[in-house]
Amino acid sequence: MSEAQSYQRVALIGLGLIASSIYWAMKRAGMEAHVTGYARSAETRETAKRLGLCHEIVDSAEAAVKDADLVILAVPVGAMGPIAEAIAPHLKPGCTVSDVGSVKKEVIEAVRPHLPEGVHFVPTHPMAGTEHSGPDAGFASLYDNRWCLIVPDGAPEEATARVEAFWQALGAKTEQMEVEHHDLVCAVVSHVPHLIAYTMVGVADDLRRVSDQEVIKFSAAGFRDFTRIAASDPTMWRDVFMTNKQATLEILGRFTEELFALQRAIRTGDGQLLFDYFTRTREIRRGILQAGQDTDAPDFGRVKVQK
Ligand code: NAP
Repeated sequence: MSEAQSYQRVALIGLGLIASSIYWAMKRAGMEAHVTGYARSAETRETAKRLGLCHEIVDSAEAAVKDADLVILAVPVGAMGPIAEAIAPHLKPGCTVSDVGSVKKEVIEAVRPHLPEGVHFVPTHPMAGTEHSGPDAGFASLYDNRWCLIVPDGAPEEATARVEAFWQALGAKTEQMEVEHHDLVCAVVSHVPHLIAYTMVGVADDLRRVSDQEVIKFSAAGFRDFTRIAASDPTMWRDVFMTNKQATLEILGRFTEELFALQRAIRTGDGQLLFDYFTRTREIRRGILQAGQDTDAPDFGRVKVQK
């Protein structure tokens, strides 16, 4: 039996995009583990049942974790601590608790104190997503060739290796990372870009000289990609900025400095500076394509794939 197959019972707490994709990817991988799912609202639990998500859907997080060897917390970052507190007395001794939160330092600080001795905590962050949320947003190939960052932060090697093998079986590539470094890297590649997209879409909305119709009609000229990102779940992203404050503010500070430099180049007519800058950033895009982390397709390859 492979390491990934060695979990016999898995509990998914939260049944949104990330958890539902985990379930479909487990199924695709032929994992035999029995999967129990829990979501906070009756509506989400009903949708999950209708979709055939998980082998069993239960009405409480406490019931979901009963006898589970692996418990995955897939709720917004700000909800991780209270959930950990609620499930802690019901965890099977020796089980592994993991989470998929986009921020690691605050999640670790919120979750770990609640976990009983002998329960291993292996935080993770799959670097994959779409602007869609909820149980019907998931699909089996979401994690294919995407990175899943593993932040063991002192977790035993054996428990960490099993979690890594699990994610690899879902299609992801894994890499271990230290907590603070994770939060800084994610501020650069994900959190601040989302904030900028939210801001740009907000600016266009405020700018009454450009009618709403024009914004929508001509959106392919760059704005469309911002709107896709800015359509991401408000709860999830509020929590990301509330919990990854330090790294986000550091990167935002640098961003603002660069923006002022470009603003100045435009005002003073320094075309060479703009040209050199854009040449450098174009290389970064080429590097991403070469690494297979995106496609050059007009829709960025984000066509929804069959479950
Ligand atoms: P999602 O589709 O919005 O689903 C969130 C789930 O959490 C839902 O089942 C929701 O239940 C439940 N939930 C929300 N607030 C809760 C609360 N206060 N207490 C208990 N349960 C609550 O979110 P997601 O995209 O799967 O994200 C889940 C986690 O993955 C987040 O921590 C996020 O940071 C991380 N993540 C997301 C992405 C991404 O791109 N989406 C990528 C990597 C990591 P109801 O439906 O019943 O409200």
